[in-house]
Amino acid sequence: AAGLYIVATPIGNLNDLTLRAAETLRAAVLIGAEDTRVTGKLLKHIGARAPMIRHDEHSAERARPELIERAKTEAVAIVSDAGTPLISDPGYRLVREARAAGVRVVPVPGVSAVTAALSGAGLPTDRFLFAGFPPPKEKALKDKLGELGRVKATLVFYETGPRLGRFLSAAADILGEREACVARELTKLHEEFLFQPLPGLAAHYAERGPPKGEIVVLIGPPESEGGATGEDLDEALRAALESAS
Ligand code: SAM
Repeated sequence: AAGLYIVATPIGNLNDLTLRAAETLRAAVLIGAEDTRVTGKLLKHIGARAPMIRHDEHSAERARPELIERAKTEAVAIVSDAGTPLISDPGYRLVREARAAGVRVVPVPGVSAVTAALSGAGLPTDRFLFAGFPPPKEKALKDKLGELGRVKATLVFYETGPRLGRFLSAAADILGEREACVARELTKLHEEFLFQPLPGLAAHYAERGPPKGEIVVLIGPPESEGGATGEDLDEALRAALESAS
């Protein structure tokens, strides 16, 4: 059916492409892609033959009118290099403008590094704040960590190997002993979770040097909230009432 399909693709393991994503990409008449070479391989793998148009940070504005116009009467898809479009990837303006133009917008959900990391880290997930890529400059990074550090939620960041050491040492300085997890190469052969308080993680990478591959950093909530769930609170209330009676 006509519409703009926002299609999630794998972040490293081809088998993570959903059946619906494959079906949608095969049915599309036009596919907006960040990198047509990367997406070309995926399309070939699933036997999809639609022409691609470049839709990345730089070309998105140019690509939008055609994607929206075609999506009014035909099935048009967008994908990013990996994971879910719009999550630290282009597409947000396209979705807004398409909907404003009366186009049906249809998410075809699947993998995202955020949810993959949260599901394997073992930090509280009842509340989390996805903070995307942290600012590269020292001062902006420390300001941001100070601001986010007050939020009573697990914090999730995307980071790169070369910048990980600097990020962790700033985070250890500002947030102290909070539990944290570095999730690396998710869904790939060398998938790894390192779980430790921030100073330990910072020391680990200071010693080892920058790791290879793709990285998500998760930082647990401030200790006093310690990931207290509704159940924990009920339990505490019950205990308090019992001791009062
Ligand atoms: N749209 C993607 C998603 O839904 O996760 C994110 C795109 S963003 C430009 C790329 C960043 O996502 C990487 O720098 C890394 O932080 C994270 N990432 C992507 N794939 C990953 C993987 N397999 N393992 C760990 N982190 C990954």
